Amino acid sequence: MSVRVRFAPSPTGYLHVGGLRTALYNYLFAKRHGGVCILRIEDTDRTRLVEGAADALSHTLRWAGIEFDEGPEQGGACGPYVQSERFDLYRKYASDLLERDAAYYAFDTAEELDAMRKRMQDAGIAWRYDRTTMRNQYTLGEAETKRLLAENAPRVIRMKVPLSGEIRFDDLVRGTITVPARDVDDQILLKSDDFPTYHLANIVDDHLMGITHVIRGEEWLPSTPKHALLYDALGWERPKFAHLPLLLNPDKTKLSKRQGDVAVEDYRDKGYFKEALVNFVALLGWNPSATREIFSMQELIESFTLEKVNKAGAVFDTQKLDWMNGEYLKLKSPSALAAELQPLAKQQGIETSDEYLARVIELVRDRINKLHEALPFAEYMFKPLQGYEEEFKAKIWTPELAAPLTTLATKLQDCDFTEATLTALTKDFAKESGLKTGVVMNTLRLMITGRAVGASMVHTMEILGKEESMKRVNAALAAFV
Ligand code: GLU
Repeated sequence: MSVRVRFAPSPTGYLHVGGLRTALYNYLFAKRHGGVCILRIEDTDRTRLVEGAADALSHTLRWAGIEFDEGPEQGGACGPYVQSERFDLYRKYASDLLERDAAYYAFDTAEELDAMRKRMQDAGIAWRYDRTTMRNQYTLGEAETKRLLAENAPRVIRMKVPLSGEIRFDDLVRGTITVPARDVDDQILLKSDDFPTYHLANIVDDHLMGITHVIRGEEWLPSTPKHALLYDALGWERPKFAHLPLLLNPDKTKLSKRQGDVAVEDYRDKGYFKEALVNFVALLGWNPSATREIFSMQELIESFTLEKVNKAGAVFDTQKLDWMNGEYLKLKSPSALAAELQPLAKQQGIETSDEYLARVIELVRDRINKLHEALPFAEYMFKPLQGYEEEFKAKIWTPELAAPLTTLATKLQDCDFTEATLTALTKDFAKESGLKTGVVMNTLRLMITGRAVGASMVHTMEILGKEESMKRVNAALAAFV
């Protein structure tokens, strides 16, 4: 049986990082098994609908490198699937469930339901629709039900959950799960406006779309007993289920907006590489049992298995993400990075060639985590010096340095500005003058960059070039002495 999986987001306006992980695991699983991964927009809850959200979702997923099958880009006629275009189907299966006595009509008003809820609360019983006392086709009888339906009285269709016994299903991550039937509610399947709820639309689509594996977040685990019953009632084979562990804040609470960003778009806009974000998210709850942590998409496809998905929640550690992004910064080619950074440089009024930008990126990339940080970090490589960090200057500069530094300036003027010659010259000069090499380098750093922190000084001078470097050394000597 060939694998068919789906990512089924509700279009709420942005892609949650947990959603990215679900989409990614589905995608990896499908690719690993030569199967199909489809995108299905679950927009049955019209009150939560956000204009343009489905397009934004597709766009963000494509940015992350996740391509779906059966989409318009592949020349398919039917994707992404959109539930709001399939309402007739859900109504048909709601009728089927009625005929099979697996669902029933209920006519309760909001006030009646509130009163029931209060009764249960007072009695200390957990909420569950009480079909033995409320107004539904069982308590009202056939004739009254027919009459109410004929006069179009407001009604919903609820699923008929057994009153006792157990519901059992298998989960590829958690093993066999058993739930007492009395803990499962007679879920509404079709609302009074004839719109399906998530549960009905979800199982109908998973069945009709031939989904073999339902891979989704743990928050859907409580819905699964209902889904299992619905598959059984319709005489359909259940798909295999795999529920992915929760994503947690560092304090082990459920990942929330209050403690940081949760939208993939936020991470993209902050300058994280898609490769780093995907790699990082892949390791949230999946353990490849390898000693390394850097995986390309292709390597993820080759190593992904559901057996190695953990049960325990996974902490979303942004420090690790920063580290991982830094690793990608070191892996990528400087010229590709320069091309990526050039538009932002222009926006900031920095006019520079791709070649020069690439050299600066190569110089500083060990010291930053995100590409755009190269611009402020090495501002002095692009713009005239803005001054000297006072504290650093106070620490480094003493009047006794004036004479030896003037000598050094003369020597530099006659020197080739290559790494090798600059290294040799500064070393020899330190020996001759009796100054420590560190002092010589720090003084040059102060004069040329104005800052206490930066990349290797001889490389900085080599890239900046003799003319600009000497202009700065001479200006500093004039200013300091
Ligand atoms: N529409 C649900 C969501 O927003 C899908 C749950 C599922 O995959 O079954 O996550």
